Amino acid sequence: MSRWSELVQAVEPLQDVPLHADLVQALERDWRDPAHGPIPPVHFYTPTFKTYQTSELSSCGKNAWPAVSITGGDCKLQCDHCKAKILEPMIPARTPEELWRVVNGLVDDGALGLLLTGGSNHRNEVEYAPFYDTIRRIKDNFPHFRIAAHAALVDDDGARSMEQSGIDVAMMDVIGAQETITRVYHLKRSVDDFEATLESLVRTRMRVVPHIVIGLHYGEMLGEWKALEIIQRHQPDAVVLVVVMPFYAPAKHPFATPDSETVGHFFQSARAALPDIPLLLGCARPPGQAKMQIDTYAVMAGLDGIAHPADGSVELAARLGRRIRVTPACCSIVVGDEVMALGNDSDAESLDLETILARARQPHAGIGIPVVAAPLNPANVQLAES
Ligand code: SF4
Repeated sequence: MSRWSELVQAVEPLQDVPLHADLVQALERDWRDPAHGPIPPVHFYTPTFKTYQTSELSSCGKNAWPAVSITGGDCKLQCDHCKAKILEPMIPARTPEELWRVVNGLVDDGALGLLLTGGSNHRNEVEYAPFYDTIRRIKDNFPHFRIAAHAALVDDDGARSMEQSGIDVAMMDVIGAQETITRVYHLKRSVDDFEATLESLVRTRMRVVPHIVIGLHYGEMLGEWKALEIIQRHQPDAVVLVVVMPFYAPAKHPFATPDSETVGHFFQSARAALPDIPLLLGCARPPGQAKMQIDTYAVMAGLDGIAHPADGSVELAARLGRRIRVTPACCSIVVGDEVMALGNDSDAESLDLETILARARQPHAGIGIPVVAAPLNPANVQLAES
């Protein structure tokens, strides 16, 4: 048994989670390889100081980074994994006037920024053009209010318009398989169009954060490694990995749950391909045992940020010697701290590990850190203010 396999056994919630021994050994080997560079600290995003479950945007409650859809719940693309359901819980702002009103209300409520998105047209474009003047007005009036926009597909002009409107962060899903674009997205665009979009976005001053949806091809891995190559060529500011959660897949096109070991291998590839780019695991991934496995591999692979970590992840990271930051903020990994303040640790407050563990011991007040007898190193744990 490798050292790490033994270490996992000391973490109570992970004791019975079956892990792939060869993969654990390979991740451990990478960690010890001097060519690999220093292991980065890990930033955990948790919605509150209470025990939580993996949640989607809709269940986050009050949120410093709410999502606003410029098409309400409408989307012409109706992708097989989503069917526009992701838009339903978002705040609708179908006109520029409505967006202005919504943002004023959010600012009054103390929101720090928003995720701006909308359903796509048949070319996988979100039609922001009528909104750009209003976005500029928002940024001129509330310069500290951050806007992260889902770009979908854009050309150079589209990317420049986003930049000129004052959008801070541009996000997009990078799809690396034509078959996935055609079948899952019902889209007559090419893999090259996705790469061209990324290229256009990184030419701007916006922070660019592409996403890879692991298992997007009906739960199978198909274009993920190609997507990684594309991202590697264009060196964006951060990359978010999510694992498909096809709650809305139609019965005639069911999705399999992606295999956790394959996901773990992909984390390893992604870390090796993007050693200097913050690599974050977003909140979407399958629940239950798969989540425990995926999060364990994410910690071992050296991902920089993990949203809503499974029980045991924090302790595991501490046992592996990783410095830990915890931000009790919901979904901020999508648009918030990690992306807006890349490399900026100024909010971090050092706390004694005993304090954190004491909170975990109180019923209904834990942060998911299991309390065990074996010693940890308090110096490795920091708690960041949300
Ligand atoms: S384009 Fe976006 S919102 Fe529309 S169905 Fe596809 S994933 Fe959902």
